[in-house]
Amino acid sequence: MKVDFIDVIELEEDEKTKKKGRRKVYNCSFCSRETDHGYDFEESNFYLVGVSNKNQRNFFWDQNFKMPICPLCRLIFMCLPAGAIKRTQRSGESVYNFVNLDTDINSLYKINSNFRNRLSSADNPFKEIMLDLIGEMSQKSTWTLQNILFIEFTLADRKGTLSYLNIPTYKANFFCDSRVIQSFGGIYDRQFQLDVMDYILTDRDLKYLVDKQIRNSIKQERKIGGNQCYNAIKLRFFINSYRKGSVDMSSKRLYFAYNEGQKIGKHLNNNKINAMAYKLLNAIKVGNRSQFFDVLVRSYMGVECEVPRVFLNVYSEKDMDFESVAQAFVAGLVSSKEKDENKEEN
Ligand SMILES: [Zn+2]
Repeated sequence: MKVDFIDVIELEEDEKTKKKGRRKVYNCSFCSRETDHGYDFEESNFYLVGVSNKNQRNFFWDQNFKMPICPLCRLIFMCLPAGAIKRTQRSGESVYNFVNLDTDINSLYKINSNFRNRLSSADNPFKEIMLDLIGEMSQKSTWTLQNILFIEFTLADRKGTLSYLNIPTYKANFFCDSRVIQSFGGIYDRQFQLDVMDYILTDRDLKYLVDKQIRNSIKQERKIGGNQCYNAIKLRFFINSYRKGSVDMSSKRLYFAYNEGQKIGKHLNNNKINAMAYKLLNAIKVGNRSQFFDVLVRSYMGVECEVPRVFLNVYSEKDMDFESVAQAFVAGLVSSKEKDENKEEN
């Protein structure tokens, strides 16, 4: 280590003064200092971050694949894994993580220490730190979120992987929205909250998670009420709106549908609610609008009420968010049977 990495730095400084003018020098690709050691930044000595330069000329401008690196930068790269946080995954594999933020070194150290302390064996550890970050959002700006970069790498026998996750602008705006922070707060179950965050960070559609969760609460496997599902549905509506850049972001329709679900549910016993909720969920899952409305209209007829216009609108207009409105109705329906839980949730 001393000979190969540290002595060469001192040696180079000496040579610079001695052999001035006679050396063929290059500029380091990273710090642009002059160097003549002939080290190149490539896969053979910088495994994982470097590429096989000679074989991947098309990666380089003008196919000039030389990437000189000075001994000092080489030492810094060499120390890179020391700054990362090592954790063991469920599979037993070691994974290294680092959270980068465009900030001073003290804050960077703090955020990474915090990350280490919150670490679980979860597959996506970043969801925890994101929940923390939006929790203290008053001090954070959209800009901060946009500049956060989560890095993860493994170093297993030449089969290492490197991946990263960043927050695009629309998602940063989403996380700074007070209604979003409120909806996250409305999900009391920590695991459900983490799952929702995971889905949002990895761009998966929340409707699948909501579907699973409503089914669970029908079966009462986990005591997560319709109210918490309703908050997840709102989050889905907001993230979709931000992604599309919608101007109208009122979640009034969802609130209305949720209340209607509760209203109908009050007329029914638990068995009827369960049967109806399953039918509706199945229809939503396959995107069958007419089947959904069939069940819906029957239920309104059963309790001798008029079907509200909102549902008719969602049925006829293609671009309206059928799934969110429909799921909100089912969440309300299911929540009407959790009479004991309602008190603490409201
Ligand atoms: Zn350098």
